[in-house]
Order: sequence, then structure tokens, then C-alpha cells
Amino acid sequence: MTDDKRSKVIIIGTGPAGYTAALYTARAELKPIVIDGTQPGGQLMTTTEVENFPGFPDGLQGPEMMALFRKQAERFGTRFVSGTVTSVDFTKRPFTLTVDEQHEYKADAVIVATGASARYLGLESELALIGYGVSACATCDGFFYRGKEVIVIGGGDSAMEEATFLTRFADKVTIVHRRGEFRASKIMQRRALDNPKIDVRWHSDVVEVVGTAQTGVTGVKIKNRESGEINELSCHGVFLAIGHKPNTDPFVGKLELLDNGYLKVEPGGTRTSVEGVFAAGDVADHHYRQAVTAAGTGCMAAIDAERWLAEHGG
Ligand code: NAP
Repeated sequence: MTDDKRSKVIIIGTGPAGYTAALYTARAELKPIVIDGTQPGGQLMTTTEVENFPGFPDGLQGPEMMALFRKQAERFGTRFVSGTVTSVDFTKRPFTLTVDEQHEYKADAVIVATGASARYLGLESELALIGYGVSACATCDGFFYRGKEVIVIGGGDSAMEEATFLTRFADKVTIVHRRGEFRASKIMQRRALDNPKIDVRWHSDVVEVVGTAQTGVTGVKIKNRESGEINELSCHGVFLAIGHKPNTDPFVGKLELLDNGYLKVEPGGTRTSVEGVFAAGDVADHHYRQAVTAAGTGCMAAIDAERWLAEHGG
């Protein structure tokens, strides 16, 4: 094992949590290695304007913010590795992390900051049309719907944000929501509901996405939960905004998970079920899920790892 594959601490993931953990461990002279994962920069890479990160009163674009986080972590000597952790051995120290099923890295402490990924409904017709009109990222794909009609599924802040963003391109955006009220914050709801291009179908489930890989999406079948009636709504794009699932695949059976699939950490802290392995950000947070809270727990994990290494050597 060469030195470039061995570190006191390895951080898995490059969202706000991973970058902040890198910044703190680098400044503590732990020479962290960061493995950047399938979506370097994390969920903020697919966000537009970030208006609620303190210190940026005029807001800034998600990708721009992540570039700044990375630059700050790099400034203090963080080393970045491109690739995805595919398996881990946490049974003995140093811990072993396998990247892209072939490259082994070793560390005395690990910070898991792998975040969460968009959820899909799970309909066969929906999954078959991902990339052919079905998307979970308006920022990435909205541009393709200039002058067209699209639907957004969900009733949270993401659904409001995506629907509002999509009105830049689409002629009409219909939000399909399963209940009679949104869970989104009042300000984001208002922004969406006041937009003349946005319409809402309440108490409704999408039960089928219509189209083929040749035609792309041509519509959706929507079932009203109250009347049971099914209608077809024609549209060219379907955007999912129904929440996220934590990225825990390599850790199943290795770290304790909660019933909802998120990593279990000590209350109010970052320690996982394995000593020397810490977790930060959305992979262990199903409640707050904000960039600022992810960055906060990234800082906490770095401090916890540093203190743990000081006590246990490494
Ligand atoms: P969320 O708040 O969990 O909302 C998910 C929405 O999808 C809910 O309305 C839910 O319906 C619906 N849903 C879930 N499963 C469904 C299913 N199988 N079929 C149909 N509908 C389904 O997720 P989010 O909107 O992604 O937001 C996540 C977090 O990020 C929140 O804390 C949010 O505040 C934050 N966020 C903030 C901003 C911002 O401030 N700029 C932007 C985006 C997100 P029910 O309401 O019926 O449960």
C-alpha cells in the first residue's frame, strides 16, 4: 500500500458535510483523503439559487457554492480521489475502503458523508422512461422543455422550487400532489401558487407514465384519491420531487441503520455503531437536511474524529 492510499482519516462524499469535514481535518493536519462519490458536490450541484446559507446575503448558485467549499478544503491540503466507495471493511483497523471495486484505501478513522439521492415512485413505466422525459433534476433537464408542458410530483420545498424553476422554460407546469395541502414552507408555496403558469392537481397519484423510449413521455395517468377516477394528462416531462433516500449501500450490515434506512448515530453527535467511524450530513439526517446543518455536522464529525484519533492513536 502506497502512502497516497493511506491516511489517518478518509472522508466519503463531497457535499457540504464532506467538504466541511475535509476543511477541519485538513486544518488539524490529519491530511485527509476525500473520495468524491457518484455525484461530486452532492445535491447542491442540482440546485439553483441557494438563499438560505448564512453569509451569502445575495444568494448564490449551488454549484458555485460547492466549488468554493472544495477550494477551501484544498487550500489546507485535502487530497481528492475520484471514484465511489463500493465496499468497506470496518472489522479491523486500519479500516479498508474499496473504491470502484478495485482500489483499496486504508484509514484509522472514517467519516461517512455520502448524502442522499432522489426517490422515484417505483412504477415500471416511470423507471423505463428515466432519461426519456422522466427526471429528478429540473436544474439538469429543465432546459429541454422550452415551450412544453411538464408535471412535478410532490408537495415539499423541492417540488415548489422545481415547479417554479421549470416555468422559465415550460409553458405549463402541473404539480401533482397526493394530499390537499403542501408541506413546503409558506414562502415557497406562495411563489409557486402565485405563478400563472403553475396549476395543481390535489389528492392525486400518478399511476402510470405514458410514452416509449422512441416518443419520450407523452403523458401521465393520474388517479384522484377521493373519487378514484383516472385521467390522462398530456405532458412531455415528469419531474420527481418526492424526497430522498440515504446513500448507505456499502454500509448495510457494516454499520447500524435506523428502520428508515438512515445511518444511526449517537444522539446529538456523529459516532456510528463502529468506533472510529463517524457520520455527517444527510446520510444520517432525515429531519433537517439543509446545507448548513450538513456543514455543521461535517465540522462535528471532524472534531470527533480528531479527538478519537488523539485518544486511540493512528
Ligand atoms: P420532503 O419535504 O420530504 O417532501 C416530499 C414530498 O413528496 C411530500 O410532499 C410528500 O407528500 C411527497 N411524497 C413522498 N413520497 C411520495 C410518494 N411515494 N408519492 C407521492 N408523493 C410522495 O422533501 P423535499 O421537498 O425534497 O425537501 C427535503 C428537505 O430539503 C426539506 O427539509 C426542505 O425544506 C429542504 N429543501 C429546502 C429548499 C430551500 O429552502 N430552498 C429547497 C428544497 C428542499 P406528503 O406531503 O403527503 O408527505
